[in-house]
Amino acid sequence: MCGIIGIENNKNAAVLAAAGLITLQHRGEESAGISVSGIYKMKTVCAMGLASNIFNEEVLSKMEGTSAIGHIRYTTSAKSSLVNAQPFQINCIHGRIAVAHNGNITNFNKIEKQLAKKGAIFNHSSDTEIILHLLAMSKGNLATITANAARQIDGAFSLTILKDKTLIGVRDKDGFRPLVLGKIDNSYIIASESAAIEVLGGKYIRDIEPGEIIEIESGKIKQSFKYAKAKKQNSCIFEQVYFSRPDSILFSKTVKESRIKMGELLAGQMKEIIKKADIVMPVPDTGFYAAQGFSRASGILFETGFVRNQYVGRSFIKPSQKLREITAQLKLFPIKEVIKNKEIILIDDSIVRGTTSKRIIEILKRAGAKKIHFALSCPPIIAPCYYGIDTPMKDNLIAAKKSMEEIRRFLGVESLTFLNLKNLICACSQDGESDDFCSACFTGKYPTKISQTSFKRKIKNKSFSD
Ligand code: AMP
Repeated sequence: MCGIIGIENNKNAAVLAAAGLITLQHRGEESAGISVSGIYKMKTVCAMGLASNIFNEEVLSKMEGTSAIGHIRYTTSAKSSLVNAQPFQINCIHGRIAVAHNGNITNFNKIEKQLAKKGAIFNHSSDTEIILHLLAMSKGNLATITANAARQIDGAFSLTILKDKTLIGVRDKDGFRPLVLGKIDNSYIIASESAAIEVLGGKYIRDIEPGEIIEIESGKIKQSFKYAKAKKQNSCIFEQVYFSRPDSILFSKTVKESRIKMGELLAGQMKEIIKKADIVMPVPDTGFYAAQGFSRASGILFETGFVRNQYVGRSFIKPSQKLREITAQLKLFPIKEVIKNKEIILIDDSIVRGTTSKRIIEILKRAGAKKIHFALSCPPIIAPCYYGIDTPMKDNLIAAKKSMEEIRRFLGVESLTFLNLKNLICACSQDGESDDFCSACFTGKYPTKISQTSFKRKIKNKSFSD
């Protein structure tokens, strides 16, 4: 869970990269970084914290260049520390190269061992570092060494790569994480989400395709080619459920549209319950559009019964349980007049550990709710993600351990409904039925081989299971 951006042929490259990162901030709050080049030698600035705090006028005034890449980070594959903040910049036989990565490399351990045997030195505890080694050890021009590196790694990787004025975008062959291409005046932009392009005044052109490498220089696409092809596209469906911004375009429609459809289909699954309910209420913010869709389809009044404190970060986004709990308590306040004596359909995007939902339901009950029907705009999460979403191991996933009835009782609600997978795919796909998605978190069926070492690494890694 990270966000990446790249821009070229623009004298404000670093400023635009910073603005893009602020737009992508929901994808990670822990660290941010920008590499800039094209006029002077490549320069990289990385720091812990929010992009808007790090990249102030003074810092940006010292980042002259015409091409830049940027990264915001959420810990998934390594501990939260400055040394793992990206972009990673190296000086190698090919010159200065910087890389920003969103995703998780699943054969990381195997490649790391092979590289270590050849004498490679590792400074970071992040899987991204092996990409730098593979680039440095490969022969050819930038696009060739990128393709050579990409062919050796498995799993999820959307990348922006910078060398001098040249910007490269890469998407893994399954297309796990999103990556899009856009244009602003004479500059191309590559970003995790289309919203980051549109906020800069640019125009979204298209998705970078799964398995595609695109090389851009001086406002022109030098080349674009497929380095590999998967049997089918496996884009993370959870991007639409929870992670992406509602105004971003995925599968030719906004995430908002997909979420509204999820709500409509959820209403179709709950015909009996609908008869009794007084209001539909979202858990802010990710439940908002699904609740709107639910209300439209069912005719039940849409109400917002929580005031969300905007100054608290996403409760889940801090890497330790303690910090998560404190931020969650600060976050939501109930509006008693809306809630009191009401039979409520409460809509959220997902249940992971179940702790947030339990807390929210307790808040509603204290505020006088008569009955609560809890509905989720995705199926139960039963398996960890190895492709870059920070879901915990199975032991901490409530739906992997408890039956539906046990979860209902644990949460203390009248009824519990999850959107089924068929309906979720219908809501997210371009044509209402094509399954171009990875839904391993709901099925436990992974589209690529998951090595035992990746599995162990995920268990060992504190940032997953804290
Ligand atoms: P919980 O069930 O207490 O683990 O929290 C679930 C809530 O956290 C969901 O309703 C989402 O809004 C949010 N969430 C779900 N998955 C993630 C994730 N991988 N990272 C951050 N937040 C998440």
